[in-house]
Amino acid sequence: MRSETAKLVEKAHEKSSWPTAEVDGMLLLQAPSLKGQRLKHAFTTRKGGQTPAPFDSFNLGRHDAAVDHWNDAMDNRKRLCAALEVPFADLRVPGQVHSKRVVFAEDAQQLKEVDAVATVSSNVPVLLHYADCVPIIIFDPRRSALAVVHAGWRGTAAMIASEAVTALVNRAGSEAWDLIAAVGPAIGSCCYPTSAEAAKSLASTVTDGELFITLREGQPCPDLRAINAMQLLERGLSTVDVSDLCTACNPDIFYSHRQSGGMTGRQGAIACLI
Ligand SMILES: [Zn+2]
Repeated sequence: MRSETAKLVEKAHEKSSWPTAEVDGMLLLQAPSLKGQRLKHAFTTRKGGQTPAPFDSFNLGRHDAAVDHWNDAMDNRKRLCAALEVPFADLRVPGQVHSKRVVFAEDAQQLKEVDAVATVSSNVPVLLHYADCVPIIIFDPRRSALAVVHAGWRGTAAMIASEAVTALVNRAGSEAWDLIAAVGPAIGSCCYPTSAEAAKSLASTVTDGELFITLREGQPCPDLRAINAMQLLERGLSTVDVSDLCTACNPDIFYSHRQSGGMTGRQGAIACLI
């Protein structure tokens, strides 16, 4: 008989094809487990907007200093909110500094040094943006609460997804078992050779961590989506829904920091309680 851990490891590695929808020209993905729930959500792609190269064509990040770039990103954020029918005026976008800091939108004066935003309020959309890092939406259908999480390798090594669960438990009264987590498109182990140190620190966050690192040509290649899924399963979640898409394998659909050599735009994950 297989151990409980072996079952979790297998579950954490499961990935599925998510349906896409074209809304107002934007190509959006939705996690099957979040569809029909009392929230609006989307994982965006690079398809849909007017953003010029090399950030073409639906960039949501304001990581370039040029004024046109900022204005274009704001236009795209507005269009995304309009497509989902959520209020752009109340949109929360944290600074994302690869920390493990989770804050509630209701508490935060500013979101500069924050990588996950939670809320218990309706009509407060939260948007985080990515280009290989792991986007995670965590939703509590019983207590109507959510968190949107930015988990790059540093955030994953610091277990930010688990921190977000703890924040929901402490502040919203969530029980981990009730939570639904959707882990969106991100760089796969197919395209992600890392240093031995990074691989080791990632593996140390879960039981049997070595099963989440593949050796390719002598270099460790961690599966960041599966490691985040395993952290969430070990934290007690019952439902973790993982997209099968690698951002670096699909440069026509997604921005990829690795694949582009660093010069690229940002896709987003957005969620809003209704
Ligand atoms: Zn890949």
